[in-house]
Amino acid sequence: MARYACGPWPRPSGGATDRTLVPVQELHDAPLAPLTTFRLGGPAARLLTATTDAEVVAAVREADDSGTPLLVIGGGSNLVIGDKGFEGTALRIATKGFELAGTTLELAAGEVWTDAVARTVEAGLAGIECLAGIPGSAGATPIQNVGAYGQEVASTITEVVVYDRYTRETVTIPNAECAFSYRHSRFKAEPDRFVVLRVRFALEDAGGLSAPLKYPETARAMGVEQGDRVPAAAARETVLRLRAGKGMVLDPEDHDTWSAGSFFTNPILDGAQFEAFLARVQDRLGPEVTPPAFPAGGEHTKTSAAWLIDKAGFTKGYGTGPARISTKHTLALTNRGEATTEDLLALAREVVAGVHDAFGVTLVNEPVTVGVSL
Ligand SMILES: Cc1cc2nc3c(=O)[nH]c(=O)nc-3n(C[C@H](O)[C@H](O)[C@H](O)COP(=O)(O)OP(=O)(O)OC[C@H]3O[C@@H](n4cnc5c(N)ncnc54)[C@H](O)[C@@H]3O)c2cc1C
Repeated sequence: MARYACGPWPRPSGGATDRTLVPVQELHDAPLAPLTTFRLGGPAARLLTATTDAEVVAAVREADDSGTPLLVIGGGSNLVIGDKGFEGTALRIATKGFELAGTTLELAAGEVWTDAVARTVEAGLAGIECLAGIPGSAGATPIQNVGAYGQEVASTITEVVVYDRYTRETVTIPNAECAFSYRHSRFKAEPDRFVVLRVRFALEDAGGLSAPLKYPETARAMGVEQGDRVPAAAARETVLRLRAGKGMVLDPEDHDTWSAGSFFTNPILDGAQFEAFLARVQDRLGPEVTPPAFPAGGEHTKTSAAWLIDKAGFTKGYGTGPARISTKHTLALTNRGEATTEDLLALAREVVAGVHDAFGVTLVNEPVTVGVSL
């Protein structure tokens, strides 16, 4: 028996720019798990799919006017949805638009991010080539300021066009007002306020070369020095290869990629916290051991969540249940096929408690949780 009923919603006449448009597709009691890379979570009371900006805005306004809770979904690659699902309207953003003019790029929120990266590299441009392979939509990239292999979107985004649910207007927010920081932004800080419609980037024409490689692993893999430029296409391919080796490129056949990528952010510690942490590390692992440490502004130091998890005893493949640590990367918690969200959260809580007991550091989840918390 089908769990949802309505077929495609009839598109009223008036064209895609008509503000009164209702979303083209509406389903009820619709499974959300297939829309997430974890394949986890219960159904949404109502699921809408919007394919134009006007449809997105109309759907958001309708939910807000009726006081219905709203969950915006892009590619579902950073979402942990509770087993009970979502008692409200889930709005899937499926808008399309890739406009490249010189070095200026505008993406509709629903564009597949990794495909957009590939197209910019094909066009010979630099700036986002090392963000290849990150799943999900372009519209979600400013939310947590996605980053990998020495690049983050905060460096190339110029403006984000959003629908502001507080003022009920579509506005353009310049980079300086996005409050971007490590895996964070103004949009993440105010999760019920902004719906991203479009993202604009300034890329670089370096004659087909990449931006200077900032990440040591990428430079090493390419046999060059940190800071060197290489052909942008080669940088993209190298990043994709490195990511695949860690289960960080989606592959439906590979349970190591039934994840949200990194489940925890890298902890940022102030001076006193880092001293206390170092003492705990050396007490437990030996005086010669120094944990990974990277400057994080002012007196702050960033350390590695993957290292902490591993050294606390949660090695690759850890777990015997349906949710386990990836066999390729300690930072990815995975659904081995039969897990529930509660199984996943039980594993996450075990890791958080174990790392805290071992090193006194509290890990924080990177994916957004819906109806559940750690
Ligand atoms: C295998 C794998 C590898 C990954 N590697 C990386 C990595 O290297 N670096 C990294 O930073 N992330 C990584 N991620 C996490 C994830 O891919 C990114 O955070 C991505 O940007 C999420 O996009 P999405 O469209 O899937 O968002 P979703 O999971 O659909 O949503 C995530 C959050 O953004 C909100 N959102 C989505 N679209 C919009 C919109 N248009 N307007 C307003 N809010 C919106 C949602 O409401 C939710 O709160 C990885 C995930 C996986 C599964």
